[in-house]
Amino acid sequence: MFIDKAKIFVKGGNGGHGAVAWRREKYEPSGGPAGGDGGHGGNVILKVDVGLRTLMDLRFKKHFKSESGENGRSKRQYGSKGEDLIINVPAGTIVRDEETGRVIADLTEENHTFTVAKGGRGGKGNAKFATPTRQAPRFAEGGAAGEERWIILELKLLADVGLIGFPNVGKSTLLSIVSAAKPKIANYHFTTINPNLGVVKLNDANDFVIADIPGLIEGAHEGTGLGHEFLRHIERTKVLVHMVDISGQEGRDPIEDFHKINEELKLYNEKLARRPQIVVANKSDLMPNNDKFNDFKEEIEKLGYNVYKLSAATKTGVKDLVYKISNMLKETGDMESLIEVEEDIKTYDSKDEKDIIVKEEDGEYFVEGAIAQKLMDSTNLEDVDSTRYFQKRLRELGIIDRLRELGINEEDSVNICGYEFEFFE
Ligand code: GDP
Ligand code: MG
Repeated sequence: MFIDKAKIFVKGGNGGHGAVAWRREKYEPSGGPAGGDGGHGGNVILKVDVGLRTLMDLRFKKHFKSESGENGRSKRQYGSKGEDLIINVPAGTIVRDEETGRVIADLTEENHTFTVAKGGRGGKGNAKFATPTRQAPRFAEGGAAGEERWIILELKLLADVGLIGFPNVGKSTLLSIVSAAKPKIANYHFTTINPNLGVVKLNDANDFVIADIPGLIEGAHEGTGLGHEFLRHIERTKVLVHMVDISGQEGRDPIEDFHKINEELKLYNEKLARRPQIVVANKSDLMPNNDKFNDFKEEIEKLGYNVYKLSAATKTGVKDLVYKISNMLKETGDMESLIEVEEDIKTYDSKDEKDIIVKEEDGEYFVEGAIAQKLMDSTNLEDVDSTRYFQKRLRELGIIDRLRELGINEEDSVNICGYEFEFFE
């Protein structure tokens, strides 16, 4: 599994202090209390930006603090609220509290938000403390400190671009070059059946993840396929780069190879086979002249593909290709998913701030999130009525249904915000 990780520190702004102040009016020399409240501190909020593909940017900036609230002022004026600080993250980002290691959010959809560090409450001004028996309070409340914590963000890296072609055509070479072409590019190496992944960093919105899919065709050939585990990583693949060896040095016919690979692809996964392809004629440095390339290009373009000449060895055409891929990604809309069921950590979150997380991990079931926590906090487990209400709410919130969907059985254990329960209905 390829996981992109970033550890960051988040701190909500402090609340502003309440003011101690007095009314000073013409005919009221020692007027009543008039200190205004401090403003609340801003929150630190994570927000999904579907344009982002990796957590790379968070590797460079580690500390995030939102604005503090202003102190209260005289004449009962409130201090203004601190601005929220929004941190954009890619869809699919899982958020863990560093200290507990627990998942606190799973951000999946566009514009989905999660408050990771609440701003502190503003303190009340002395005007708020006046009572009939205490008409001149000489004190005000201090602002509360904003929440702070270290969090770990994790993102399953999914390839946007799949690299296909027969063995030895130069797929790995291209990947390594694309990754080496820029200093900021991170390189992810994996062994055996896992494809190699490279993150191509152009600029924020145009970063993409490219996967060399070495075993695809060999696997399909043998009828074994690579299974769901593998498909998940290329699930988001929008564009395929189909590479052939144009040199013919190994006695291969590139046109024949092209069709063979596409046949195998169809057998392997039809949806994947329908992804748009950029056709790349590699090893062009080994061609004595352009005849072969021209023939190939003519033939393949008749079928509606764009064909590019490349020499991964001499890097000729690489930069061009990267931009072609990037443009094609931009033009390509959302794709249908390659797999029917999501088999990973199955997570349910309702929208908005009302986050409830219901998930299964290694055969254990967990219910987390603010609403669940609130429900838990307000439940007295020793009281029958309270427990009954608790169960009713679990049902109303869809938590029971969701647990069932995840495959829970009677007597399985469910951890609700840190409390273990046995599931039964
Ligand atoms: P893969 O099996 O498709 O990943 O292919 P590799 O990237 O491992 O390349 C196979 C061989 O072809 C290696 O020896 C590379 O050095 C060589 N190769 C890759 N691209 C080129 C190229 O553009 N020109 C030449 N002459 N050799 C290349
Ligand atoms: Mg290879």
